[in-house]
Amino acid sequence: MSETAGKVFLVGAGPGDPGLVTVRALELLARADVVLYDRLIPDGILGAVADGAELVYVGKTPDRPGISQSQIEELLIAHARAGHQVVRLKGGDPFVFGRGGEEAEALAEAGVPFEVVPAVTAGVAATAYAGIPVTHRGLASAVAFVTGRPGNANDGIDWDALARFPGTLVFYMGVRELPVIAERLIAAGRDGGEPAAAVRRGSWPDQQVVEASLADLPARVAGAGLEAPAIIVVGPVVELRERIAWFENRPLVGSRVVVTRARAQASGLVDRLRGLGAEVVEAPTIRIEPSIDSAEVAAAVDGLAVGGYDYVLLTSQNAVRLLFEAIGRAGLDARVLAGAKVAVIGPATAEALAAHGVRADITAERFVAEGLVEALAGEDLEGRKLLLARAAGGRRVIADAVSERGGLVDEVVLYSTVAEQPDAEVIEMAAGADFLTFASSSSVTNFLGAMDGRIPSGAKVVSIGPATSATLRANGIEPDAEANPHNLEGLIQALLSLHP
Ligand code: SAH
Repeated sequence: MSETAGKVFLVGAGPGDPGLVTVRALELLARADVVLYDRLIPDGILGAVADGAELVYVGKTPDRPGISQSQIEELLIAHARAGHQVVRLKGGDPFVFGRGGEEAEALAEAGVPFEVVPAVTAGVAATAYAGIPVTHRGLASAVAFVTGRPGNANDGIDWDALARFPGTLVFYMGVRELPVIAERLIAAGRDGGEPAAAVRRGSWPDQQVVEASLADLPARVAGAGLEAPAIIVVGPVVELRERIAWFENRPLVGSRVVVTRARAQASGLVDRLRGLGAEVVEAPTIRIEPSIDSAEVAAAVDGLAVGGYDYVLLTSQNAVRLLFEAIGRAGLDARVLAGAKVAVIGPATAEALAAHGVRADITAERFVAEGLVEALAGEDLEGRKLLLARAAGGRRVIADAVSERGGLVDEVVLYSTVAEQPDAEVIEMAAGADFLTFASSSSVTNFLGAMDGRIPSGAKVVSIGPATSATLRANGIEPDAEANPHNLEGLIQALLSLHP
């Protein structure tokens, strides 16, 4: 029936942790023309949508009931008929209490092509993140997903059957009706002493779990002020939580960690810290400002193109990235490095280089300029031509050491690090931090500038290496730990070593 290439994708977004979004969902979001989305979707997921695509919020708001189901269905059909790729994005799985089935029916009836992208549903995810397996050998050989809105006439529940159900009961949308649910189950013969739990915002950083017997759970949930969205789970499997709860037991749960790095570079560290349970405050204090349009850079690239250098020294991932950008702009590629030995500081820089298909000949393991000087110790530099690609300012350790050994160094500045002022909210959050992490001297200087020279009392200070530590000491701050190796993984290990 459909004459156009329009299509609707009924896509689940998972329970909340952005890491639980499927690859397929991200692919579809990236090429959607229109995205119709609900409230309970993971933070940041709409960032996967391409610029220029239309985002339509169709969920409820506190003061509005949201647009009706039939209006949503009409919108889906209209967009598809206009030839659009339409993503209908829903929390959890689209076919589990998500009304995805109704939307599919409407699309089928209208002759609009569609696909369904299943996802991790809250009944499985919130429980798993609470350390409760919904099935378990010897404890539960079946699991029932049940709507917790028995008041709804369409969802008439057979309480006798549920009470007899030989396995775990998982209720969605059950917080409000929890007293009724517990009472009916017990009246129908379920044991009031059976273990039960409510898991609110499972897989989100602020996940909350309340555990009690089935009979006591309603009062305990009310006492804790726990509200929707929550999964209610009833069954002996709840007791496993005592031994296998993991999400709340991650090492940095309850700790606030400030990350002071250039925004573009911080994300790997931020992800790792969040994975360890930390509340991360990103205080970007420096920004990388490329300066690859200079005559100096053009001359360096020309020099490379004619094989004019015996060595190319790269001091950071940014230097790698920007050197290749400059090479690319000149219409050239990695082959300009063919005749030179390439030396880098740190494994991360070597990896960035490898991503361009070039293997570093020399990698300084110590993440400081002196490390590169040491790594070059075995090379005969007399009369050799070296290109040193680096940031503006900075120390002259490498160029001086190389010149002393008879090397002819051309220094080329590819970028500068510019101070960036964190906003007031970030500064306030930072004031209550448990840990401050510093990955460069400039981030020390700039962060202290933003904080009026003081660091929050009670915050422990973690430095990435000797140069950064020296800058801290120059400002009267003794680092509590220093990374070794001097990289992000070392920084995380150093932080964990301070953690009780
Ligand atoms: N399609 C969704 C369910 C939508 S119904 C899915 O497959 O998960 C909404 C209900 O889902 C909420 O009332 C709550 O019971 C549950 N829910 C959704 N996200 C949740 C989460 N992160 N933690 C606990 N419960 C959640």
